[in-house]
Amino acid sequence: MPMQTEYLIIGQGISGSFLSYYLRKEGKDFIVIDNNNSRSPSKIAAGIINPVTGRRLVTVWKVDEVLPFAWDAYQHIGHELNITAISQKSIIDFFPNPFMRESFLQKIGTGDKYVHPYPEQNHFNNFFNYDLGCGEIRPVYTAHLETLLPAWRQQLQKENKLLEEDFDIAQLKVEKNKVHYKNITADKIIFCDGTSSFENPFFKQLPFAPNKGEALVLHIPGLPDQHIYKKGLMIVPLAQPDLFWVGASYIWDFDNSDPTETFRQNTEKALQQWLKIPFTVVEHRSGLRPATLERRPFVGFHPVHTNVGILNGMGTKGCSLAPFFARQLTDHLLYEEPIAVDAGIERFKKILMR
Ligand SMILES: Cc1cc2nc3c(=O)[nH]c(=O)nc-3n(C[C@H](O)[C@H](O)[C@H](O)COP(=O)(O)OP(=O)(O)OC[C@H]3O[C@@H](n4cnc5c(N)ncnc54)[C@H](O)[C@@H]3O)c2cc1C
Repeated sequence: MPMQTEYLIIGQGISGSFLSYYLRKEGKDFIVIDNNNSRSPSKIAAGIINPVTGRRLVTVWKVDEVLPFAWDAYQHIGHELNITAISQKSIIDFFPNPFMRESFLQKIGTGDKYVHPYPEQNHFNNFFNYDLGCGEIRPVYTAHLETLLPAWRQQLQKENKLLEEDFDIAQLKVEKNKVHYKNITADKIIFCDGTSSFENPFFKQLPFAPNKGEALVLHIPGLPDQHIYKKGLMIVPLAQPDLFWVGASYIWDFDNSDPTETFRQNTEKALQQWLKIPFTVVEHRSGLRPATLERRPFVGFHPVHTNVGILNGMGTKGCSLAPFFARQLTDHLLYEEPIAVDAGIERFKKILMR
């Protein structure tokens, strides 16, 4: 049976979920196609939304806009779905070496609003080995993608807006004002399909740079869950009691996206030295981040095929960037609002027109 819609969205990771959420809010008609790949980064991420990152505690891009936006966005969608989609935490940063301790103290000295001393230095002695003390980063949030994505999927299914299948780009026909895919005709198509876009004939010229990440899920009974713990690795509480995510690796050079024995062994070894309480590994996750050379997302419509769009390139920060740019793309589509210059694919116009 032929189907007619306004928007065809490919992918229901965190990008496609928030894009469909905002389009639905605006009363727009759409269909989402998603193959439910268990290795997609949205299914294996920790969900951390943090204001500073890396060894030098660099303040993240657009933090003052993106952090409060993410908190509100997850609160709203969670409220509508009757789930907890986001929690507020703080990161307890155990200094792994004197250099990192010094960096942290210097950052506090600058009056940074996210980096704080932790007054009770012995507070975590029952749980962790740490000789060089700790500091605190706050506010930090965890997005509960493991709860949110299935709940949103169920909502879409209830409304007959989700097709669970592989999208085959060979069957896409793009005309000036319409796109056709199998029995579906849509005004526009928007790719939110993570690393699949790297092969997409419309967008493969964009400077994508896939990055492999692995993580373990641990059962750690008794570890308090109001913090994220960091010492090289991060231990992040998941929604289910006593379950914690531990990771992640950050690899540019890899042969495939499979979990590796090396990561598992090294992580378990590091945990044995750091954690004082018992843990068991319940899962080993691995996948490819849709990262980009410039570490900025790709948002907008193709300069020639103006009904073909993309919301992608979220890299290591999809949990905070996806809601923000899904809203921007929606406002661009419906109200002709501009897309941030450093995220819009307009910046690659020449390359995309070749
Ligand atoms: C180990 C690890 C840890 C991470 N931790 C964090 C974190 O703590 N905080 C953070 O902000 N980010 C984190 N990230 C990054 C984050 O996961 C990504 O930025 C984000 O999930 C990207 O979301 P997306 O929706 O753009 O893409 P994806 O998650 O890749 O979603 C794409 C969707 O499209 C579907 N799809 C793809 N191709 C097809 C096709 N041909 N047909 C049908 N469906 C298709 C997939 O099944 C998937 O559902 C982490 C990543 C990894 C790997």
